[in-house]
Amino acid sequence: MSASADVVIVGGAGVGSASAYFLTADPGFRGRVVVIERDPTYANCSTARSAGAIRQQFSTPENIRLSMFGFKFLSEIAERLEVDGERADVSFRRNGYLFLATESGRTVLETNHATQRAEGASVALLDAAELKARFPWLNVEGLAAGSLGLANEGWFDPYALLQAFRRKARAQGAIYRHDTAVGLERAGDRIVAVKLASGERLACGTLVNAAGPGAGRVAAMAGIELPVGPRKRFVYVVDCRTPLPGCPLVIDASGVWVRPEGSAYVCGVSPPEDQDPECDDFELDYQPFEEVVWPTLAHRIPAFEAIKLQRAWAGHYDYNTVDQNGIIGRHPQVTNFVFANGFSGHGIQQSPATGRAVAELIVHGKFISIDLRRFGYERFAANQPILELNVV
Ligand SMILES: Cc1cc2nc3c(=O)[nH]c(=O)nc-3n(C[C@H](O)[C@H](O)[C@H](O)COP(=O)(O)OP(=O)(O)OC[C@H]3O[C@@H](n4cnc5c(N)ncnc54)[C@H](O)[C@@H]3O)c2cc1C
Repeated sequence: MSASADVVIVGGAGVGSASAYFLTADPGFRGRVVVIERDPTYANCSTARSAGAIRQQFSTPENIRLSMFGFKFLSEIAERLEVDGERADVSFRRNGYLFLATESGRTVLETNHATQRAEGASVALLDAAELKARFPWLNVEGLAAGSLGLANEGWFDPYALLQAFRRKARAQGAIYRHDTAVGLERAGDRIVAVKLASGERLACGTLVNAAGPGAGRVAAMAGIELPVGPRKRFVYVVDCRTPLPGCPLVIDASGVWVRPEGSAYVCGVSPPEDQDPECDDFELDYQPFEEVVWPTLAHRIPAFEAIKLQRAWAGHYDYNTVDQNGIIGRHPQVTNFVFANGFSGHGIQQSPATGRAVAELIVHGKFISIDLRRFGYERFAANQPILELNVV
């Protein structure tokens, strides 16, 4: 059987469904959108295993803009993604991030602060005494400064966001197919069809790669190298009996992070890059918790000396091995192949702005809301990586 679609999106989780939503919402778009998703339970995708946090505190202006739109979108989500009178609810909780720095990190924090302020972000730089006054439960020993988000930050249920995008996209006409893309048919500089595991051939006008950690493999089906693959991360859920009033999402100078989740806390750390191989399994490892996360947190927040580990989960970052930033845009030669990949730990908060950018490219032929040309695939050949300093 052979079928066709104006736009085929491979991957129907956060980014793919956001793209399907914005495409089908655009009054200038009249085409047929088919989303190919191999696992409609979404059990293992990056989105479902995300920590679901959003921040304005990046060092790259585009990242700040992408996430600021994400925050605005989440603030309006109940109405924007309402279907048949049922309002969307992603349990959005507004709260800041607190990036901590020792003396050696102070300059970076100050430079980021200036970039963020220039972008209209509401952030405060606090010295150690101010940190102690504001968060008496924090051990400020060894700290030179902290950057606290005063607005536009928080956390939400990423799985609920995925489902809300998907529901609305379907209500607007997007078709979701339970199948796996196993090959791409290329004719010169065009992708002409997607081969599916079911045996079907789906002809396409435009192909969007929204395959998350699998994006490198999907690009390889067209003979294109895309530096994106899975990297395993652990999230640990702990119980802490001592109240920590006003606890933000704390990023210690070491990279260890923690935030409240209901009456518990979630926490984790990314490993050093040389200990971070491509990995496809979801086996849990408690060693990073025992050896790095817990001791670091117990030092920084003494109440954490008495925490109890409740549970943990593993997930895969959609990791861009070159510069850990999103790759958004068309392939320079194969121009009907659009990438929305490689977000490396900050992709679900950027899914609304990314979906909107993908739709703008397809419908209007260019970025309209945020100029994302620097985030294009071309940057690799030009050796112009985007070195975001706040990758968590
Ligand atoms: C532990 C953890 C914590 C995180 N914390 C945050 C956070 O706090 N804030 C933040 O913004 N981001 C965070 N992220 C990153 C964020 O979750 C991802 O960047 C984002 O969800 C990527 O969305 P996606 O739709 O591109 O990828 P995915 O959610 O992985 O979706 C890709 C989809 O493509 C499908 N697919 C793949 N290949 C094929 C194929 N060949 N055929 C058909 N379907 C296919 C998969 O089944 C999957 O459903 C975190 C990630 C992890 C793992």
